[in-house]
Amino acid sequence: MNKLGTSVENLRKKYREIFEKSVEEIQTRIDDIKPEDLTGDIFDYYESDSKGRQWQEHTVDMLENDISKEVYRKFQEILAYRKTFKCSGCATCCNLACSEFSPEELKQKAESGDNFARQFLSVFVPYSSKEEARKIYPQYIEMLDESKEDDVYFYHCPKLTADKRCSDYENRPQICRDFPDNPLSILPETCGFKQWKDEVEPVTLMLHAMVEIIEYYIDKIKLNLK
Ligand code: SF4
Ligand code: SF4
Repeated sequence: MNKLGTSVENLRKKYREIFEKSVEEIQTRIDDIKPEDLTGDIFDYYESDSKGRQWQEHTVDMLENDISKEVYRKFQEILAYRKTFKCSGCATCCNLACSEFSPEELKQKAESGDNFARQFLSVFVPYSSKEEARKIYPQYIEMLDESKEDDVYFYHCPKLTADKRCSDYENRPQICRDFPDNPLSILPETCGFKQWKDEVEPVTLMLHAMVEIIEYYIDKIKLNLK
């Protein structure tokens, strides 16, 4: 396995550990507001107006408001910290953009009002083959091959000049200005935001796990609140 593939595998392992720890933390906060004399689980059915039902309602409120707001605030801090880093102009993200969607699927999404798909298609055109894309960032394609990720489509921007400059820099769309807006994106070593990604990745994984867990708890508890 190459270095990039190993780091993706490490990331998955790290995520599993962080996820389990986050479940424990959220469960502890739910247990902290549980009435002392109540037996039963947060996912049990309780009669309306019972202590169990009130506990479930408080829990949903805590998850939807307090904890979700904490997650949102921390993610905003991560994005604010990103502003202290700069694009180094390596042009990898202009030369190799990946999407799980084919050009036809992106077109359909854009026609149905998906703003990201619309912007993406206004910038990128597909590579004619994976081999063409491989020349730009071989380690990345190798990693995809090893992880058997078949449904990835490769694109590039025709506005990039031969000397790797943007020929329409002043008018570049928002998705170019914002990239990378997620520290979990795979970035090349040459990217000026790589240090930002490496520093904030553990916290981002934790926030990602929290969002997943919060949604799961809310959905499952609400089934019993109907
Ligand atoms: S428009 Fe410019 S910045 Fe955006 S992908 Fe193309 S070359 Fe890069
Ligand atoms: S990969 Fe990073 S450094 Fe390279 S052009 Fe894109 S944002 Fe800039």
